[in-house]
Amino acid sequence: MSKLAKVLAIAEHTDALKELVSAAAQLGETTALIWAGDKSQANGADTLYYLGELSPERILEHYAPTIINLVKSEQPSLVLVEASRRGRLLAGMIAAALGTSVLADAAEIYVDGGVVTKRMVYGGAAFSTERCTAATAVVTLSPGVFEATDTGKAANLVEVPFTAPARPVKCLERRTKAGESVNLRAAKRIVAVGRGFSAPEELQLAEQLAAAIGAEVGCTRPIAEEEKWMDKARYIGVSGLMLKPDLYVGIGISGQVQHMVGVSPARTIVAINSDKNAMIFKQCDYGIVGDLKTVLPALTAKFR
Ligand SMILES: Cc1cc2nc3c(=O)[nH]c(=O)nc-3n(C[C@H](O)[C@H](O)[C@H](O)COP(=O)(O)OP(=O)(O)OC[C@H]3O[C@@H](n4cnc5c(N)ncnc54)[C@H](O)[C@@H]3O)c2cc1C
Repeated sequence: MSKLAKVLAIAEHTDALKELVSAAAQLGETTALIWAGDKSQANGADTLYYLGELSPERILEHYAPTIINLVKSEQPSLVLVEASRRGRLLAGMIAAALGTSVLADAAEIYVDGGVVTKRMVYGGAAFSTERCTAATAVVTLSPGVFEATDTGKAANLVEVPFTAPARPVKCLERRTKAGESVNLRAAKRIVAVGRGFSAPEELQLAEQLAAAIGAEVGCTRPIAEEEKWMDKARYIGVSGLMLKPDLYVGIGISGQVQHMVGVSPARTIVAINSDKNAMIFKQCDYGIVGDLKTVLPALTAKFR
């Protein structure tokens, strides 16, 4: 694959930073990272454009004019931005300043006579392929598209002076988020539950299996949004979390595309379902046809 002359990566979180820097190294001859926060985390690009520490008074959005100035002076072929809420906002501002548009939430990106991206459309039922025709492509990159590898590069540090925004966003109040705090993205193993569970008390069968194999528990959208048996932070799929675990065990889950796109990159997919014709059996590496109430205790006992 031919490479681009220069790729600039912008990350908000350290997990994404590592993936974006790997992506930049695979796509570009020279790479730079724009980062605000803990400097010691920001390795792997040829150049680190360091913005400074973030604070409630100075949030990432406030750096938009600073970043836009940098992008204009550096003229990269590609600006890769973490597909977080703030990242998407920044990407939109950068693209608008450059007179182009964002290629949003790329699930694949490559160079073929320019920057080409693929992204999911129609709730995960299809992919759209888009080619950028501008001199600088602005792309938000979905998590898990690139493996976070060590590029071995020690960045040349450039401290970037702050350009204050004309109309900064003002934070009026900060409150701790109600509900639990869980990071399924960091989990190597996921046990996911679906509507095959007929009561919240039954979820402990999945939790016991998860504990036995060192997994986190996730769910389908109806379990979080309709039944409200689990926090929204745990639901997987096109409108929830997109994951790339080593192991995904889907229990009482039919295998609808909107859920499965969130785990299809998993290394191994195991399905447990009482219906032998369930769609999930067409998408798994291992399948167990059976009632979860008998299969789960047996599996848990075996793993223990
Ligand atoms: C625009 C859009 C976006 C969506 N986004 C998401 C998303 O991000 N994430 C998501 O999850 N969904 C999403 N959905 C919903 C999705 O289409 C499915 O409806 C949902 O994933 C189905 O959840 P489920 O598999 O838990 O339930 P069901 O489809 O009802 O499947 C339950 C399964 O449990 C099995 N079962 C029943 N009893 C047992 C038992 N005792 N033992 C073992 N198996 C049993 C059944 O055979 C069945 O296959 C979206 C839908 C739309 C339209």
